[in-house]
Amino acid sequence: MKKKSGKKEVFINDLERQWLDSYVARHGEKLFRVRQIFKWVFNKNVSNWDEMINIPKGLRDEMKKDFLLFSLKLCNKYASNNNDATKYLFRTNDGHFVETVLIKVGKRKTICISTQIGCKFNCSFCASGKSGFVRDLSCAEIIDQFLLVRNDSHMRITNIVFMGMGEPFDNYDNLIKTIKTFMADWGLAIGARRITISTVGLIPQIERFAREGFSQIKLSISLHAAFEGKRKQIMPIAHTYSLSELISTLRKVRDRFRRNITIEYILMKNFNDYDEDARALAAIAKQIKAKVNLIGYNAVNDCKFVAPSKNDLIQFRKKLEREKVQTTIRYSAGSDITAACGQLSLINKSTTVAKR
Ligand code: SF4
Repeated sequence: MKKKSGKKEVFINDLERQWLDSYVARHGEKLFRVRQIFKWVFNKNVSNWDEMINIPKGLRDEMKKDFLLFSLKLCNKYASNNNDATKYLFRTNDGHFVETVLIKVGKRKTICISTQIGCKFNCSFCASGKSGFVRDLSCAEIIDQFLLVRNDSHMRITNIVFMGMGEPFDNYDNLIKTIKTFMADWGLAIGARRITISTVGLIPQIERFAREGFSQIKLSISLHAAFEGKRKQIMPIAHTYSLSELISTLRKVRDRFRRNITIEYILMKNFNDYDEDARALAAIAKQIKAKVNLIGYNAVNDCKFVAPSKNDLIQFRKKLEREKVQTTIRYSAGSDITAACGQLSLINKSTTVAKR
């Protein structure tokens, strides 16, 4: 995206820390100014440069010319009927839409962040892949989802899950840079244990992630079928990485993640909810010492699957528990505003500007 002057627009949250250090030094200022700037950006909910009153005006004016504070604009937001979820619709500078969800359960405020516009992986139960893949989100576009939701909601966000639109590990470099900013003491200082990455099972990236020492971060594997044939029917990625390869990789990295691997299993009535499915799923969970999150399928346009009842979920959980697998039913918040698991999509976006 170019400014009217023809200069490329640069967002503050796309800059490397070291680059900003040298920028500030080039403008004759001491390095502590960078910490001050980050404090404003990450901790003080500023919406423009002039609010940074302890930054010398000369430096502020230069930064105002050179960088933009936010890479996204809030277009709309939708609250669920019982107010347990709010879906935010943002527009990028080049006119694409990004969805982010804030889920409120008691004191826990979890933000579900998108990492791509669209998705390449086209899982058949998920709306995100239905309109194809457009592009990766930049670091600024990922970080700004957090900042803008926090600034709008005035809530302390306690947990971050990378489970929005897109496959996080398919945008690996930006994901890792973002996580480092989230965790940095000069950034948001969020503990690794409060961050979860969900993946369809990209084996090279899982191995790299384990090698690079992010073992405190939770890894969530979208399994959704415990048999190879069924998985191939609903997740095209299973044609690239077989279930047995995935399990063997997870066994290899398991010790690094200790108890931090979770299997996500979307229960679809009369598809993956039979006794044999429960037994096969329990066997996989035990092999990789994972717990299971059971999620009821949420209706998505043009999908043939049927949502289970609450009782179906409870019965399936009992089957797993009989096999001694720790299982939690995750009731999806926000299904009435298409903000629940698998419902985020590029299709039919309204651009009505939200009242703020
Ligand atoms: S489940 Fe994840 S990987 Fe699959 S289409 Fe949806 S966003 Fe993409």
